[in-house]
Amino acid sequence: MEKSNEDFKTGIEVKPLGWSCSFKGAAVIEERGPLVLRCELPISGSVEHWGQEYRFTDPVVVDATVSGDALGLDVDIVFKARMEVDCARCLEATSCEVSESFQLFLKPIPENKGDRVEDGNAEDDENLVLVPSIEGEIDISGQVWEYLVVSLPEKILCCEGCLGLCPLCGRNRNRGECSCSTSEPDPRFAVLAELIENGNDEAPGKGGNRNGNSKK
Ligand SMILES: [Zn+2]
Ligand SMILES: [Zn+2]
Repeated sequence: MEKSNEDFKTGIEVKPLGWSCSFKGAAVIEERGPLVLRCELPISGSVEHWGQEYRFTDPVVVDATVSGDALGLDVDIVFKARMEVDCARCLEATSCEVSESFQLFLKPIPENKGDRVEDGNAEDDENLVLVPSIEGEIDISGQVWEYLVVSLPEKILCCEGCLGLCPLCGRNRNRGECSCSTSEPDPRFAVLAELIENGNDEAPGKGGNRNGNSKK
């Protein structure tokens, strides 16, 4: 999958083209004080995830604070993304905002000549990022993208009590009753129809005792 054409859709595997949110480690180390930076990372088009489309309406805004020394840098990151998603019930475009914060620990790649060294707990830390040079240019936009993807909401509703679509005519029920809703089948019949449908392949005589009287 080495396609390089700039699709309208952005895949979730790799950060969007042109994303960069970087700073020089040396600036933090020399200043001995925290460095504050803000990046606006643009996304064009939509991202597909959880079987739906997330249409980004604004750049993702990242605020980061970097502190530390030559042994390691701590980065506190807050990001905010605005997007539009179809309501899971009525399919109406619904805007939503995702805001998350996370931390990264940057450390220089240890110089182990030759064999692998088991460095205990350092490898378990999922926030640890090993960088080739702690003083050089460090880009955190790839990590922002990873955190953004995992924080995309699985389901969005336009409102809490969204009525969804009429199964018969497809009309959005939030906008009023359609003509079929008045002649809708009696709900008791609907339940009956469901029972018939589901009951066909169920084994008969299976004691469905809800109180669970299970005397041995
Ligand atoms: Zn809805
Ligand atoms: Zn209808």
